[in-house]
Amino acid sequence: MRHASLGPRCPRCFSKPALCLCPQLVPRAGRTAVRVVVHETELHKSTNSGRLLPLLWREASMVVYGHGAPSLPAQPWPEGTRPLVLFPLAGAPTLDTIVDDDPRPFSLVVLDGTWHQANRLRKRFHHARVPFVRLPERERPTLYKLRRGHFGASLSTLEATAAALAILERDDDVEAHLVDGFRRMQDRTLWLRGAIDADDVYGGLPAGLQRHTVNGPAAAAAPQHDGDDGDIDDATAGA
Ligand SMILES: [Zn+2]
Repeated sequence: MRHASLGPRCPRCFSKPALCLCPQLVPRAGRTAVRVVVHETELHKSTNSGRLLPLLWREASMVVYGHGAPSLPAQPWPEGTRPLVLFPLAGAPTLDTIVDDDPRPFSLVVLDGTWHQANRLRKRFHHARVPFVRLPERERPTLYKLRRGHFGASLSTLEATAAALAILERDDDVEAHLVDGFRRMQDRTLWLRGAIDADDVYGGLPAGLQRHTVNGPAAAAAPQHDGDDGDIDDATAGA
């Protein structure tokens, strides 16, 4: 069990207790539902950005599948909503072109995890004829530094979903809110790895916090990545 050495984590934000970000991670309300479909093996990686979505968007929730989890429901979106799978599929319409008079809200189905996992899910939803959408082209430098994502240009799951929600909600503040929480979480992880200094942590750190007191004495002796924090997945932005 490779997580055994990682010590306690906050059950909500999955940070080490001294770095819990929960007071800063406030879910914002909107119309669009988000369903983050993720394999159980991805869920607890600190590099996984999708699991931040329910902490920042009230209508978002995780749909976990895998060996130790229930099988993926055929329709993992709320009743009465219209599903859209967010995926950089060639030929799929861009979100900004979707305009209609249907009063029912949309559900964004977001395929999280490695490129390989997301691609398998893509086929499944494609066979079920669930409509796909992609993000419009935009100058979109990713802030994602933990690993490569699969939303083109290595955009993280959270960043892609934030951009999509801003379009569907017609509110750029939605994207800013989600990316703010993402940057706070990411920079704390980078600081824990020794990749950035405390002064460079977006949103700051609790006063007086030392890296070795968070990581524990063993990590101080050997300041390496701890367990899953070192994972780089096999995603190659293949879209
Ligand atoms: Zn927390």
